[in-house]
Amino acid sequence: MRSIVCVEPGKLESQIKDKPVAASGEVLVKIKSIGICGTDIHAFGGNQPFFSYPRVLGHELSGEIEAVGEGVDLPIGQAVYVIPYISCGKCVACRKGKTNCCSNIEVIGVHRDGGMCEYLAVPASAVVKADGLSFNDMAVVECLAIGAHAVRRAQISQQDTVLVLGAGPIGIGALQFAQEAGAKVLVADVKQEKLDFCRKEYQVDGVVDVTADVEAQLRDLTQGDFPSVIIDCTGNLKAMQSAFTQLAHGGTIVFVSVVKGDVSFTDTEFHKRETTLLGSRNATLEDFEHVVACLKAGTVKSSALITHTTKFSGLVESFTQWVKPESGVIKAVVEMD
Ligand SMILES: [Zn+2]
Ligand SMILES: [Zn+2]
Repeated sequence: MRSIVCVEPGKLESQIKDKPVAASGEVLVKIKSIGICGTDIHAFGGNQPFFSYPRVLGHELSGEIEAVGEGVDLPIGQAVYVIPYISCGKCVACRKGKTNCCSNIEVIGVHRDGGMCEYLAVPASAVVKADGLSFNDMAVVECLAIGAHAVRRAQISQQDTVLVLGAGPIGIGALQFAQEAGAKVLVADVKQEKLDFCRKEYQVDGVVDVTADVEAQLRDLTQGDFPSVIIDCTGNLKAMQSAFTQLAHGGTIVFVSVVKGDVSFTDTEFHKRETTLLGSRNATLEDFEHVVACLKAGTVKSSALITHTTKFSGLVESFTQWVKPESGVIKAVVEMD
C-alpha cells in the first residue's frame, strides 16, 4: 500500500509498505480522508514534544471497514471515523471515564504510526459509525471535538459571554460549540483577516484585536462585565497569562493549548474573582458523538473550516506548501485517490 512517512523533520517521503492485517480485537480501516492538524505541522517542523522519527503522521481520519479481526462484530464496508486516542482502560483517569487524559495514552499518528496511508489497523473501540456524514466531515470530527470538550468542561450556557483566544481551527471549533450552547461569543486574534473570517462565517458577537488595547475592547463589548469564560487556543504564554486579569468575577478559564513553560498569575487577581482554572485535553466519546449530532443538525459546520483539499497522490507537494503561514490554511483535508 502507499504511505507517506515523515522520515525526519522537514522531510516527507512516499513509501510502499505491506498492507496491515486486523489482529484480534482490531479493525482494518480503508482510509478515505485525512485531516491535517497543527500536531502534524509541528511534527513535520520538528518541534512537537513526544515525537520520534520515522513516523507516519495523520490522526484525523475517516474511512471504511475493510476487514475485522477475531471477536469484532462490525460490518464490512461500514463508514467510520477514528478516535485517535488509545487509552489503557485501567489507569486512575480511565477508571473515572476520563479516557482523554489516560496516563498511558497513545495517540495514533503521534506515539504510533498514523493514517497517511491506504490502510490502518486500529482497535475496534477506536472506530465509530457515522452514517450520513461525508468522509471529509468525519475527518474533522476530532478537531471539532477538542473545542466541544473545552466547552463542556466549562459548562457553558446562555448566561455566558465567552472569549475565545486564538482563531485557528481549534478556536473556531470552540467558538462554534460555545454558540451552540447559547453563549454570546467574542473572539480575539492578532490577525485581522482571521477576525474578519469569524465575523463573516460564524457571526460572532464581537472581535478583539490583540494588537490594540484588549482591556478597553473587552470592557466595551461586555458593558464592563468582562467575559465569564475565557478559552485559550493560542499556544502563547502571554495570551494565557492575560486571561487572569481579563476574566469576569466568578469566571472560568480553560486552557486548551499547551505551552512549554510556566504560567504565572497574581494570586490577588485569581482570588478576588474566585477564578476556576481548567485544563482541557483531547476529547472523549461523548464529545465526538456531540460533534456528529451537531454536524448532522447543522448547528455546527465544517464547510468554512476546510479551506484546502488535495488528493493523496499530491500530499507531499501540498503539505510543504500548507506549512507556510502565507498559505492561509485553516484546515486542510486529504482525499484518498
Ligand atoms: Zn488533530
Ligand atoms: Zn488509562
